[in-house]
Amino acid sequence: MKTIQAYRFALDLAPGQERGVLAHAGAARVAHNWALAKVKAVMDQRTAERSYGVPDERLTPSLSWSLAGLRKAWNQAKVEVAPWWGEVSKEAFNTGLDALARGLKNWSDSREGARAGRPVGFPRFKSRRRTTPSVRFTTGAIRVEPDHMHVVLPRLGRLKLHESARKLARRLNNGTARIMSATVRRVAGRWHVAFCVEVERAERKPAQPRSVVGVDVGVKHLAVLSTGELVGNPRHMVAAQGRLRALGRALSRKTGPDRRIGRRPSKGWERASARLARAHARVANLRRDGLHKLTTRLTREHGTIVVEDLNLTGMLANRRLARHIADAGFAEIRRQLAYKTVWNGGRLLVADRWYPSSKTCSGCGTVKAKLALSEREYTCESCGLVIDRDRNAALNLAALAAEFDTAGSGPVAGRGADRKTRVRGQVAVNRQPGTTSVGQTGTVPPQGRTTDRALTKAH
Ligand SMILES: [Zn+2]
Repeated sequence: MKTIQAYRFALDLAPGQERGVLAHAGAARVAHNWALAKVKAVMDQRTAERSYGVPDERLTPSLSWSLAGLRKAWNQAKVEVAPWWGEVSKEAFNTGLDALARGLKNWSDSREGARAGRPVGFPRFKSRRRTTPSVRFTTGAIRVEPDHMHVVLPRLGRLKLHESARKLARRLNNGTARIMSATVRRVAGRWHVAFCVEVERAERKPAQPRSVVGVDVGVKHLAVLSTGELVGNPRHMVAAQGRLRALGRALSRKTGPDRRIGRRPSKGWERASARLARAHARVANLRRDGLHKLTTRLTREHGTIVVEDLNLTGMLANRRLARHIADAGFAEIRRQLAYKTVWNGGRLLVADRWYPSSKTCSGCGTVKAKLALSEREYTCESCGLVIDRDRNAALNLAALAAEFDTAGSGPVAGRGADRKTRVRGQVAVNRQPGTTSVGQTGTVPPQGRTTDRALTKAH
């Protein structure tokens, strides 16, 4: 099975190397901004000509928005625009032009309704202050050194890694991985290199292929499993919260930027801001690590994992909840489970966002009309069951998998359809066509088509 995977390592750059990377990132920005200005100028020119009644065939020819087109235009202009162009790798200019080509495509797709999600704005100029410096290499000498502690990139040369790349090196050496690109980027003051790698993964089977586990991603715990196990929220965030608050207060006492009056931030503000960003980045790293450990364990062990498709935007509107959910990295768990079930030969089932997993009794199937978020215990008035709220939801999710399997193909009324119909029409279980493909990570069923079914196979 071939998958596309990213390997990211922190870098320890020498001052000269850092200048080299920044020069490349700056070159990417120059090419991006030059091409954007050119695109805008041509668009404005054509609009003006049309307003004078110039016929379409005699308008200024439009500029190609493809990467190849932008690159051609840049190569004709670079001697004049950037006489220093020979000092950096051509990959630097390519980075900027590629970003612009994708930005323009996203904008036009979004405008024509060919792109789901929120509307995409027209590309903006990149400023040195606001843009994250980054440069991507797709060709040339990209390799990991035999000591696993250095990487070699075109023009930038031999860069020291902060951590060992032995796992990637092992795959490269035995021929199960191929580096497609390397991106050097500064995140929260720290340099990283991310390799985009095509990996040939061995076919695997979960340790218990027939085992089903329901995962309720909660507020009180990171996750509650239908097996009864509570996986605690990562404490890193809580522990670091005092420090984050202190750093936030320190920042607020300094003179920050003010765009209305055109005030530049003070040096002290910039330092404090960088400290706060580093503290946040560290917490995010620790949290991601905790989530990876959980999702790896679950996908190696169980054949079927059932999760809920929570309406995140709705929940994030509630600010007190929002912080916890953001902390727990709800979307991140789903994302990781989606691709790791593919890797490990299991499957991920996603319950419809309207499926009342919390309100349904896992003992008798009765659905409550109301269940306040503050009620941590589920008490069933019909059968008298008293159970932890999240455990109850996890059990309901796990039970859905059995329905999914007995339902076969085509929509079939699921368990408790007779009861749930009172709540929300027909609750059906539907098998999505299997679409296990290379590196597929998408899980969210198409918008607006989810309300009539209780469960969707994510891949
Ligand atoms: Zn009950």
